[in-house]
Amino acid sequence: MVENGLMMQYFEWDLPNDGQLWNNLKDDAKHLKELGVTAVWLPPAYKGTSQDDVGYGIYDLFDLGEFDQKGTVRTKYGTKEEYIQAIKALHEQGLSVYADVVLNHKAGADAKERFMAYEVNPDNRQEKLTEPYEIEGWTRFNFEGRGDTYSKFKWNWRHFSGTDFNAENDKEAIYMIQGLEKGWSDDDTVDNEYGNYDYLMFADIDYENEEVVLEVLDWADWYINETGIDGFRLDAIKHINYHFVKKLINSVRENGRPDFFMVGEYWKSEYETIADYLEETDFTLDLFDVSLHYNFHTASQQGSAYDLRELFTDTLVSKNPTHSVTFVDNHDSQPGQSLESFVDAWFKPLAYSFILLRAEGFPCLFYGDYYGIQGENPIEGQADNYLDALLYLRCNHAYGPQNDY
Ligand code: CA
Repeated sequence: MVENGLMMQYFEWDLPNDGQLWNNLKDDAKHLKELGVTAVWLPPAYKGTSQDDVGYGIYDLFDLGEFDQKGTVRTKYGTKEEYIQAIKALHEQGLSVYADVVLNHKAGADAKERFMAYEVNPDNRQEKLTEPYEIEGWTRFNFEGRGDTYSKFKWNWRHFSGTDFNAENDKEAIYMIQGLEKGWSDDDTVDNEYGNYDYLMFADIDYENEEVVLEVLDWADWYINETGIDGFRLDAIKHINYHFVKKLINSVRENGRPDFFMVGEYWKSEYETIADYLEETDFTLDLFDVSLHYNFHTASQQGSAYDLRELFTDTLVSKNPTHSVTFVDNHDSQPGQSLESFVDAWFKPLAYSFILLRAEGFPCLFYGDYYGIQGENPIEGQADNYLDALLYLRCNHAYGPQNDY
């Protein structure tokens, strides 16, 4: 019998900056196995803008807590060596390990450069508000602490499509960089909110640039070989040209890893958009079931006014279960974060029952729900309240035919 798959997102936004996550995870590997966890999603492991960067303000993809850059060798979570030891410990327990891969933008540049750019309308990024003029942007990445180790590539403004700050006059705006074959990715290759949602934050990586594409594909190979990781959780893919996402997935798998796991974060609750994206990328990746998360959230807000028969309406798990990674909450939906839509506590045991005790979908358990959320308004973990019990049922008893009525 094939065991029931279960992913665990092993971090929350407000973890302390103590460099201990990788060590704690290593010590927790055996326990996770006992819970029935089969795969662990780890936070971004590379050097961000500072030591306490959660990992999404990414500075250097090749620095996994190894070089003295941005004022620190380790990341928020530990050193490269500790990261690799944690992955080994999970592998020894038979668990897969997924890396959080942030490829939309780069942050914390080493130097400013002058280049021509347009200011665009934040609500319609294809609408230019100005003629092109010279601005001073943070787009030069030299990686002095790492030098040429692992890669000689240095980033400059030609490798980006936009930025949000002109250092010459301290003006914040969305600047689309001007140049031959530059501009946002075509409208039909990224999400269409705000006219064209290629630009999200920081210096936006330009995947129309062939040097960039080759460098990032090489990096992916290096990263997998260096760490032994088994899958990618692709961050913010609605802001990345899908042709590149497809190329990345194919490149990784064609290099002798046909079963390499890929799940994308396409944060959109409309099923049509999700379905189109799966089609555009030839069903080569799974997606987080954002609609289901929002249905849980709505149900938890409306209480007795909510018609529970609607819970699976227009969800990925109901329409395409083999590509659905179901979840209740994550680091972005937790209180105080950018997509705050935290499912009310009273409904959580029901929501977890829905994802853990049914046949469809690949469920993802959130660290913050299991171990608790720290920070200014801490929330207690629910491990011994109800989660251990549900996980035990999933692992040992949730098999056989499912009859809905
Ligand atoms: Ca982008």
